[in-house]
Amino acid sequence: MSSSRDKPVEEILRLKRELNAVILAHNYQPAEVQEIADFVGDSLELSIEAMRTDAKVIVFAGVDFMAEQAKILNPDKIVLIPDVQARCHMANMLTPEMVRKAREKFSKPIVLYVNTLASCKALADYICTSANVVDVVSRIDSDEVILGPDANLAAYASWRTGKVVHPLPENGHCYVHKLFRPEPVLELKRKLEEEQGSGKVVFIAHPECDLDVLKIADHVGSTSQMVRYVKNVHGKVVIFATEVDMIHRLRRESPDNVYVPANSWAYCIYMKQHSLEKILRCLREKRYVVELDRAVIKKSQEAIMRTFELLGMLDKLGLRK
Ligand code: SF4
Repeated sequence: MSSSRDKPVEEILRLKRELNAVILAHNYQPAEVQEIADFVGDSLELSIEAMRTDAKVIVFAGVDFMAEQAKILNPDKIVLIPDVQARCHMANMLTPEMVRKAREKFSKPIVLYVNTLASCKALADYICTSANVVDVVSRIDSDEVILGPDANLAAYASWRTGKVVHPLPENGHCYVHKLFRPEPVLELKRKLEEEQGSGKVVFIAHPECDLDVLKIADHVGSTSQMVRYVKNVHGKVVIFATEVDMIHRLRRESPDNVYVPANSWAYCIYMKQHSLEKILRCLREKRYVVELDRAVIKKSQEAIMRTFELLGMLDKLGLRK
């Protein structure tokens, strides 16, 4: 006879109802976690979902800065992360001290990528995502900005806006997106075109990739922008340059294309710390609770709201007081 331990999915669903909990999962989560989630998305989509939810408990299957972001947006809710080892390598490259020093040295607006710890977000002027970075940087009333922690995102924003974008730190990066290079992608595209026919293969890339990779892409965008893009191409072979588990969402949302990872080793070990067993333990034992200092929450919220205002999103999101 099977026990509840053999049926984590059923037990997770039961506990979710009992606790009035919602499970939010990032696009890079393993397939089993994406399947059990109430909502799967990128950082921006999950942030918006975290603000909209009526649930009392948010279980965040993503990395540290994402769970912190959910807490910033929902300070009165219980936010849980199934495994505290899920720490984004890139977010942890930036410290509050670096942000303070950059402000003193350059005195330019500071834009921090959502992939940043709350202690740094609290010191930022604006918080961007990979989906809105170009919009944010272009709307800021300054020809020079500081952007961290991803130097590739800074280069991308500079390329697209024509502004001077100083990376902070100089070599901040996502080790997963550094695994893509233009030559193997062009070679893969050439081979697939030989098999499938010219015009049947497209290459899409995430802005965390190096600029020389972005420059050969048919589309550059965040994971949510990739999802929208593939909905408008039909019957194609889509080579994608981002974390490999993105394939599940792409297939689910647009099954009439074939998806090929640009590098099958592009695997984020930090994102894979979560599993059904850990989500079950998280709900049973209510751990690990995400705790943040009230002042950090307040200052981070101010930077996020300032960004929504800059983007003209306060009314759309129903956030204008
Ligand atoms: S894929 Fe890169 S940016 Fe995303 S969580 Fe992993 S290390 Fe961080």
